[in-house]
Amino acid sequence: MKFSCALETSSERIRLVNVISPLIKAGYQLISQKQEPSENGGNIIHVVAKTQGTKTQADLIDDLSSIEGCTLFKLEIDEETVSSPSTPVKKALDEKSVLAAIGAQYPDIVDVVRQYEDGLPDEMRIRALHELGRKVGGGIYQRDYALGSPLKMSAAISRELVPALKAFTKVKASDHSITLIKCPFCKTSHSHHLGCNFVVGYIEGFLTSNPIVGRVRVEETKCGAGSTNICEFTIW
Ligand SMILES: [Zn+2]
Repeated sequence: MKFSCALETSSERIRLVNVISPLIKAGYQLISQKQEPSENGGNIIHVVAKTQGTKTQADLIDDLSSIEGCTLFKLEIDEETVSSPSTPVKKALDEKSVLAAIGAQYPDIVDVVRQYEDGLPDEMRIRALHELGRKVGGGIYQRDYALGSPLKMSAAISRELVPALKAFTKVKASDHSITLIKCPFCKTSHSHHLGCNFVVGYIEGFLTSNPIVGRVRVEETKCGAGSTNICEFTIW
């Protein structure tokens, strides 16, 4: 498959060659590459390349996020070139790779969250999805809302959490609850799915990062998986 990506290096001494050589070594076929200085004193490296052989999207994310001294922040895969074998080989993603992929693709993260869920043993899913959601929700709060003065709970919900969740779907909110209309995390699931635990964690991580709100507990009080896909989350 063909892809284009951008990585930011942590210092200007880490250059194009430091990114290109591990990729070549790992068997990628480069199409174009470019380096430019980043605002943070490092370099931005843009690469367009093709995978060869049987590499999956998970392998690609793995390879890109393990290049030393670099952070992956953009990844676009040319969908037409993704081959879909009749028996797809599932590969478990670790949390670090999932977070890198989420950072690169946000807010188009439903598939990668599902892929993560699928690769986990059953007994770990609830906890792992919840934990992943906490990290992502907390990260989005830090990225987009931590600079202003922190809001109290009800304003934090209506003016910050609701706009943040609107990146995924339509949202309704009251002082102590959030409802996702057509929740994408359970859209294609049957009623036994666990994907909404990601949303539970997201809300918790987002609100807990706000120093005025502090600790909250979140529960999915109604799940629409397998039916309406309207999911209600209550916040204490
Ligand atoms: Zn749900």
